[in-house]
Amino acid sequence: MAAVTMNYDELMQALRGDKPVLVDYWAPWCTYCRKISDAYDMIAEQYGDRLIVAKVNIDDNEELARMAQIELIPTLILYQDGKPAGSIVAPESKARIEAFLGETMILPDEETASPVHDMVIIGGGPGGYTAALYAARAGLDAVVLEKMGAGGQMALTHQIDNYPGFDEGVDGMELARRMQRQAERFGAKTVYAEVTGADLKAEPKLIRTSGGVVRARTVVIATGAGPRELGLPMEKELTGRGVAYCAACDGMFFKGKTVAVVGGGNSAAADAMLLSRVAERVILIHRRDVLRATKVYHDPLLKAPNVEFRWNSAVTELLHGEKLTGLRLKDTLTGDESILPCDGVFVSIGRKPASELFASQLPLDPGGYIIAGEDTVTAIPGVYAVGDVRTKRLRQIVTAVADGAMAVQQAEEYLA
Ligand SMILES: Cc1cc2nc3c(=O)[nH]c(=O)nc-3n(C[C@H](O)[C@H](O)[C@H](O)COP(=O)(O)OP(=O)(O)OC[C@H]3O[C@@H](n4cnc5c(N)ncnc54)[C@H](O)[C@@H]3O)c2cc1C
Repeated sequence: MAAVTMNYDELMQALRGDKPVLVDYWAPWCTYCRKISDAYDMIAEQYGDRLIVAKVNIDDNEELARMAQIELIPTLILYQDGKPAGSIVAPESKARIEAFLGETMILPDEETASPVHDMVIIGGGPGGYTAALYAARAGLDAVVLEKMGAGGQMALTHQIDNYPGFDEGVDGMELARRMQRQAERFGAKTVYAEVTGADLKAEPKLIRTSGGVVRARTVVIATGAGPRELGLPMEKELTGRGVAYCAACDGMFFKGKTVAVVGGGNSAAADAMLLSRVAERVILIHRRDVLRATKVYHDPLLKAPNVEFRWNSAVTELLHGEKLTGLRLKDTLTGDESILPCDGVFVSIGRKPASELFASQLPLDPGGYIIAGEDTVTAIPGVYAVGDVRTKRLRQIVTAVADGAMAVQQAEEYLA
């Protein structure tokens, strides 16, 4: 059976099925894509019923290419349970594709047969990849499980100026790629899968992922933090339909439109600035009558001709049809209500730790952070919490990477 050319509907249908799907994103003008296509057909024959092997022409399916964030072709993405489990760019041979499938395709019945890794690192942000780097350099067999793409939160920002070694600053995505490549150069592996549960007290420890079960002697939790939500009815349902949490990621969808930004700190101010260059009108909504953001944002924001402020205001309702149509606001001083029509709202009211998965097994502080000291040691032997997900005073890239290194030092002692 040869690889099957698919359009949007056909691919969506394949992803809804129970078989893993390997998709080759290619284009007719790409010489290298044509060169590797025979090997790809051979893979389809070889794996037969166990794997659906699809080809997507990105010229005919721009929407699919955008959704898969294709930057280079050919890119091969393996989907398991409808979600990306791993990817490989421009594989040089059939053997390389086979090796990739061997490393990435985790079958459910592998619970007991899968190898026991020295260390599994949950999360591929700066904390996770530093742990991977130190572990690989210490000769440990280390696997990073990442649900989206390397870099975590830092990949959301274009300019990082406070990470040492980059005198002119560095793009967050670029720093993320470098950290991943550096760890992988020493033998660390990345598996793109979402961790959905874990038995941290088992020996070996069991990590359930969207791609199957992974086993390890030690676990580093580096799941970081995500955006704090408004907590309003319909917020989840409207996410992606007008409600957004990342201006750098989703701002372009609101080109020429009216958007609100909720918050008064640095992130909200930076989001409002960024959106003012894209949207027609930006309304910054803040509970108080002055921004908490550092001074550097104040003047540019106040001077921006298309940025307005709604001081002393809180959002009490998301108004919507199919998509968001506006916000109901309440004056925090008078209690008066008003309606603000808008096409989108960017929620920028802080971060919350991604610790829910471990809440039944590890003690959390009142903010939801995993309780661990500077040594990253948690209440369960062999389990370490690093970066933004643990209790700490300063949540930055430098502190996350320091934690990553520390966790490996502790794990080495535990494994000795
Ligand atoms: C917009 C923005 C700009 C910033 N700018 C700076 C800056 O200039 N300088 C600075 O020092 N800091 C900055 N920060 C903060 C910095 O990015 C964080 O402190 C740092 O990224 C924390 O690293 P981490 O490894 O702990 O977690 P994160 O970066 O949050 O990474 C966690 C990773 O875990 C993954 N993950 C989570 N749950 C699961 C799961 N269940 N299964 C698999 N994977 C999972 C996520 O997808 C993510 O990739 C910024 C943050 C933001 C949001």
